Amino acid sequence: MSDPDTTPPELSPLPEPAARPDDEPIVVAAEAQPGETQPVAAEADAQVIDRSEHTISRRRIPENVLKVLYRLHRSGYRAYLCGGSVRDLLTNRTPKDFDVATDAHPAEIRRLFRNSRIIGRRFRLVHIIFQDMIVEVATFRREPERSAADEEAEDFLITDDNTFGSPLQDARRRDFTINALFYNIADFSVIDYVGGLADMETKHIRVIGDPDVRFREDPVRMMRAIEFASRLQFTIETETYAAILRHRNEILKASPPRVSEEILELLRRGWARGAFRLMVDSALLEPLIPEIYRSISGDKAPYFWKMLEVLDRTVQAGRKISDAVLLSVLLLPWVVTELEAEENRRDVKMRISDVIIFIRDLIQPICARMALAAGTRHQIEQALETLWRLLEAPSDKRSQIRFVYREPFNDALALLELFALSSPRFVEQYRQWQQFAQRVRRADESLPPPTRKRRRRKG
Ligand code: ATP
Ligand code: MG
Repeated sequence: MSDPDTTPPELSPLPEPAARPDDEPIVVAAEAQPGETQPVAAEADAQVIDRSEHTISRRRIPENVLKVLYRLHRSGYRAYLCGGSVRDLLTNRTPKDFDVATDAHPAEIRRLFRNSRIIGRRFRLVHIIFQDMIVEVATFRREPERSAADEEAEDFLITDDNTFGSPLQDARRRDFTINALFYNIADFSVIDYVGGLADMETKHIRVIGDPDVRFREDPVRMMRAIEFASRLQFTIETETYAAILRHRNEILKASPPRVSEEILELLRRGWARGAFRLMVDSALLEPLIPEIYRSISGDKAPYFWKMLEVLDRTVQAGRKISDAVLLSVLLLPWVVTELEAEENRRDVKMRISDVIIFIRDLIQPICARMALAAGTRHQIEQALETLWRLLEAPSDKRSQIRFVYREPFNDALALLELFALSSPRFVEQYRQWQQFAQRVRRADESLPPPTRKRRRRKG
């Protein structure tokens, strides 16, 4: 017999989601163990919002996710949609992913879904694998208790949090109130333990618990506060913001690859301008990348803010921009300032070969601090160098054509495009290169495919 979870969902749909209209209350199926699912109201402080009082419709939840929720529920476990998906569904945005939280333990989840695997050493999540998506299911966790020694040493950094907990504890260990809402598949209600709905209403990013403690436990939460504020156009609540100002230097305790990934997250999804405005206004960027902070704070590089605006529009329009271009945009104001200063020091316009060496030496320490992969660093170097080569515009046609075929050309042209759309300086260069590249490519396409030379047979 085939496992219903490994076959494509359309071939083996579970009857419940398809058959039940959206607002009809679910009837707990026969295999559910009565009494195993504790009523939510038994837990202190939960605000339960009935289906009729919120806007989340099951039609906006993918079938595979519903399938997972229903199976957990029918097997007697709690099954909640949690985190970003509830927040995004409530604000009518399309969630990036749909995470499920349950009181079933990983091994129990694994037994329920044959198409699943337990992943992660620290968190032990279960991935349920469908043909076109993976649904992540996590057992409710609680914040680890700090030892007396930790308290004394004022060591707040979380090192181990793989302890199972109740839904209330699971909500409280999350970062912001708006990220801690649950959608309960048992009755389609939204469960709020932390005042998240009120903050959704008034559009506030508020840390759960004491922000002084929560930011010290995990300093990346400060960047996440900024991300969500810019992304949802919410305001960071006063106490939360004040704590960012107090603890901004602790961002250096976070792991550099995680911080760099968060920086890319701020740049890559269409909310970069607002996010970097907040990174500069709160000076959270200063301890992280002081060079860049110095070159964009105040009104030192108005074109940089324009560039982020153009970048956001470009990304929102669906165009994919490489990580190398995103990070080059961030580095650009500093590279420009330093190059100008160097030319003033030398009192002569630098040759392109010297410019290239200069850029490499300049960005190397930042890339190392950000723990960027060697490949990414190389691509940034190439994009920036090629940008300067494009601005120099080699005079002979053959070198220009060679340029268009070089790998970093597309990144450099994207960078030049963002630059030109943000400052009147390079409009003409961009226009010329773009038209030239188009002509070269068109000519290339119209050529007949290369014919293979026939080898003359010997003998
Ligand atoms: P996105 O739409 O970008 O995925 P998200 O809110 O789902 O946003 P994730 O990074 O996918 O964010 O995390 C899922 C959930 O896990 C969050 O909504 C939050 O409840 C919790 N979470 C994530 N990071 C942290 C953190 N550093 N500290 C506490 N809770 C966190
Ligand atoms: Mg998510």
